[in-house]
Amino acid sequence: MSITLAGVIGAGTMGNGIAQVFAHHGYRVIMADTSDAALAKGLEAIKQSLARQVKKGTLTDSDAEATLARITPTTRLSDLAPCGIVVEAATENAAIKEQLFREVSAQVAPTAILASNTSSISLTRIASWCTAPERVIGMHFMNPVPVMQLVEIIRALQTSDATWQTVHDLSLALGKTPVTAKDAPGFVSNRILMPMINEAVFTLHEGLATAEDIDTVMKLGMNHPIGPLALADLIGLDTCLSIMDILHDEFRDSKYRACPLLVQMVSAGRLGRKTGRGFYRY
Ligand code: NAD
Repeated sequence: MSITLAGVIGAGTMGNGIAQVFAHHGYRVIMADTSDAALAKGLEAIKQSLARQVKKGTLTDSDAEATLARITPTTRLSDLAPCGIVVEAATENAAIKEQLFREVSAQVAPTAILASNTSSISLTRIASWCTAPERVIGMHFMNPVPVMQLVEIIRALQTSDATWQTVHDLSLALGKTPVTAKDAPGFVSNRILMPMINEAVFTLHEGLATAEDIDTVMKLGMNHPIGPLALADLIGLDTCLSIMDILHDEFRDSKYRACPLLVQMVSAGRLGRKTGRGFYRY
């Protein structure tokens, strides 16, 4: 099936990046959010990202304009009805996602694919909310979407081979490298990343070394481009904690217990870059 029109739900950090990548690769995009203000913010982020590419010389002015012109903002979910694929990147909240998937799956064509960019909610559960669960799949982009190469594709128990194949080929058409994972808590990416970050927080909590030195060990010793505590600040400590809690609850294994310092930092509102303070000050 050939897709020319893509829907993106959510114009936030991930949604505007996903919309930009589709539009950059020639797809027309309908980007939905709940308010005009959220859409305006998302479009502004896309404009700035395209301007950075023009400045670097990786994109021409006219390509940037054409990319932007392919994106239509809307506050009406019904405008997504003609889309060949809808990628949901709304707030990480199961109740919000359930309502969205129930509504959108009742409106799109029988051939349309519904993808979610969720970091931690079970795709099998999301598929169970939809009228055609075999056409539901995870498309887990990384932040920042226009820059990061990976798309983790997650197959729900119900996902058909045809749906998987279409999304795999589509990811390649978007210039990404797809990797397929089974539907399990944290998939592959967060199953490995979050316990590593959590362990880095434990080393800080136990006073083994300073935050700077812990990050330096991982950067210079393990060749990581950014240390785990700086990365946690970038992702948001609330997000890190909620993913650890999901791993802990769903595997019921104490090895995934969140470090008490991570819990305290979130209680104190020190969520990382977005609040100006996390393990570092910004
Ligand atoms: P965000 O808070 O930046 O953006 C979420 C957007 O969804 C907001 O603009 C909000 O107004 C909108 N929204 C909420 N309810 C809606 C509704 N009913 N209809 C339409 N829009 C609605 O969040 P984000 O960081 O972009 O995360 C979005 C999704 O991507 C989450 O599922 C998250 O787990 C996942 N994700 C995030 C990252 C990351 O690094 N931030 C990485 C991978 C995956």
